[in-house]
Amino acid sequence: MSKQAYRVINLQLVMMQSLSPTMRRFSFESSEMSAIQTFAPDQRVKLFFPQLKNPQETQWIVEKEDWYQAYRQMPEATRPPMRTYTIRNLYPEKNRVDIDFAMHGATGPASTWAESAMIGDRIQMAAPNVDWDGEKRGFEWHPPAIAEQILLMADETALPAVAGIIEELHLDNVQADVHVLIEMPKHEDRIELPEHQNIHVHWLARENQSQPGEKLYEYVQKLYPSQQQKKSAVELENINVDEEILWFTGEKLEQQKFYAWIAAESKAVLNIRRYLAQECGIQKEHLNCMGYWRWGKVLG
Ligand SMILES: Cc1cc2nc3c(=O)[nH]c(=O)nc-3n(C[C@H](O)[C@H](O)[C@H](O)COP(=O)(O)OP(=O)(O)OC[C@H]3O[C@@H](n4cnc5c(N)ncnc54)[C@H](O)[C@@H]3O)c2cc1C
Repeated sequence: MSKQAYRVINLQLVMMQSLSPTMRRFSFESSEMSAIQTFAPDQRVKLFFPQLKNPQETQWIVEKEDWYQAYRQMPEATRPPMRTYTIRNLYPEKNRVDIDFAMHGATGPASTWAESAMIGDRIQMAAPNVDWDGEKRGFEWHPPAIAEQILLMADETALPAVAGIIEELHLDNVQADVHVLIEMPKHEDRIELPEHQNIHVHWLARENQSQPGEKLYEYVQKLYPSQQQKKSAVELENINVDEEILWFTGEKLEQQKFYAWIAAESKAVLNIRRYLAQECGIQKEHLNCMGYWRWGKVLG
């Protein structure tokens, strides 16, 4: 068995495509693409970018199999900063992978690279290793087969995952009633998604008039109004989203009829989780809540 669930490969940027004012698709090629795989539409990967201060001094990862220990031992000043992204499309036969970036201005190593990227740029990616025989890792989308209601909530950083999830539900001719709430910076950020009679997509736009996640929080209250008789005093973990990554994934309950997958700005996700569990009485085990980024913070 290979040592690590993820392995590092080199990527070269071959194409950029604007999907909306905020979303840009970056297509990369790699001669090592057959060494990685993807398991689910929300498959997360680590991308490694040039150092912000001295991009030319960046020391790329050489030990690609047993990379994590080696990476941690590299000097912080020169190792490539690592950020989490989602595989949007993987085409091993074409040696190609697509990653969709939310363009939010040059605020960190990932967004700075994306804002000024040029065809031919090289970065690195850690993705699921094809030689790994252990448990499949790096995704949270596990809808129970008998689900009757599915709730998907995302902001622009989780749109790549949700777009893939909708494609999968469409292909599977989903029988559950699916509500999808997507909050984007602008109305024009609406992208085309496959249509299906059971999938109801609600696009929400901040238009510089609300904080990230506020529109999601407002809309979920319309969709699931608080009900006195369903209110629950369930105790919820109250984490400090400025210091910890918010990641509460439900248990896999085969008999579960309601399933939620929620990924957006951490504080917003915390509030939504609290609302659904305490005001609507939804079992917290049915809620998969992921903080994809935190306003004003670098959470690594
Ligand atoms: C599992 C997972 C999957 C993800 N998939 C994707 C994906 O496919 N596409 C994608 O675009 N993002 C994705 N993200 C989010 C992405 O990892 C973060 O936005 C990341 O912080 C960007 O790194 P950075 O170097 O630009 O900024 P950082 O160095 O991390 O942060 C610098 C500053 O930028 C701010 N910032 C970070 N993200 C945003 C944002 N979206 N809007 C406004 N300010 C921001 C931070 O609050 C901080 O103040 C994913 C995150 C997770 C956890």
